[in-house]
Amino acid sequence: MVSTAGQVILCRAAVAWEAGKPLVIEEVEVAPPQAMEVRVKILFTSLCHTDLYFWEAKGQNPLFPRIFGHEAGGIVESIGEGVTDLRPGDHVLPVFTGECKECRHCKSEESNMCDLLRINTDRGVMLHDGKSRFSIKGQPIYHFVGTSTFSEFTVLHVGCLAKINPAAPLDKVCLLSCGISTGLGAMLNVAKPKKGSTVAVFGLGAVGLAAAEGARIAGASRIIGVDRSSKRFEEAKKFGLTEFVNSTEHEKPVQEVIAEMTDGGVDCSVDCSGSVDAMISAFECVHDGWGVAVLVGLPSKDDAFKTNPVNFLNEKTLKGTFFGNYKPRSDLPSVVEKYMNKELELEKFITHEVPFAEINKAFEYMLEGDGLRCIIHMDA
Ligand SMILES: [Zn+2]
Ligand SMILES: [Zn+2]
Repeated sequence: MVSTAGQVILCRAAVAWEAGKPLVIEEVEVAPPQAMEVRVKILFTSLCHTDLYFWEAKGQNPLFPRIFGHEAGGIVESIGEGVTDLRPGDHVLPVFTGECKECRHCKSEESNMCDLLRINTDRGVMLHDGKSRFSIKGQPIYHFVGTSTFSEFTVLHVGCLAKINPAAPLDKVCLLSCGISTGLGAMLNVAKPKKGSTVAVFGLGAVGLAAAEGARIAGASRIIGVDRSSKRFEEAKKFGLTEFVNSTEHEKPVQEVIAEMTDGGVDCSVDCSGSVDAMISAFECVHDGWGVAVLVGLPSKDDAFKTNPVNFLNEKTLKGTFFGNYKPRSDLPSVVEKYMNKELELEKFITHEVPFAEINKAFEYMLEGDGLRCIIHMDA
């Protein structure tokens, strides 16, 4: 293979020209990586709600034309100056929030909220020079969350790439670059159920089912799913769910329903719904004395969390998490290993697959609430 290092690459990318309009497959120029940057050949990507949210651009500053995409797997094509821990040929997962390894957050054992590379949805350019690496006939096309994986080649900061086991199938482990790790980590790293625990998961989308998968891996004895729709319940059994509560079918608040089912409350709960009412229920349904609730789902801009402070005095704990508390470069390789040693199951999250040319179908499935994850094959 002839090396393309140092040259502009012409390749296909799915460009969002306007908010809410179907993406258009275009030939784009991808500039070589600059200092501390890496150019990656994307092999598989999938669609996550965050892409959809910023593509619809309701209530945020619209930034178009833009290349979306942040859940993906690929192979390093070339590296920029100063990059020492990645080489061409390495298998990587891009991550929308990075790890510089040098700031206070990266040095803290507790935090994954890197000062330099924390998610920034308003920035459409590279940090190094404030410019985009994508263009069409000279017109710059904006990046998205530092990843822009809806392109056959993309350029990222080295701190936004996790180097993983090259034997791991990228068409499966690409899911670990965002949603699945978020739910899994919320359960395993933050809620931390013990073997035999009773757990509740609010919101049974891909992230919530990944939280349930975490509870299954941890050996929870009861996993109660809560959602406003019953359609996911059958599917959710594959993720370890043992019981289901449809919150619209009860007169009393869900926290009371769960307290009755569990002799006073669950040991831990995770909210992945983003509904503030569900967040409050998720907190209030944990057992006094030891219960822990973890918030994952993104609230609406003007939401306020309201609960009687006596819940805290009764020794219920409320926590929040971002990307499942995983440090992307340090921790994702070991999550990939959980899949490789068959502890973590990823296949059941994949409900659709489409060729890159039909990427708009993935948007349609998500808009219709059809399925969990759609894998987009870049070579097709
Ligand atoms: Zn950092
Ligand atoms: Zn995502």
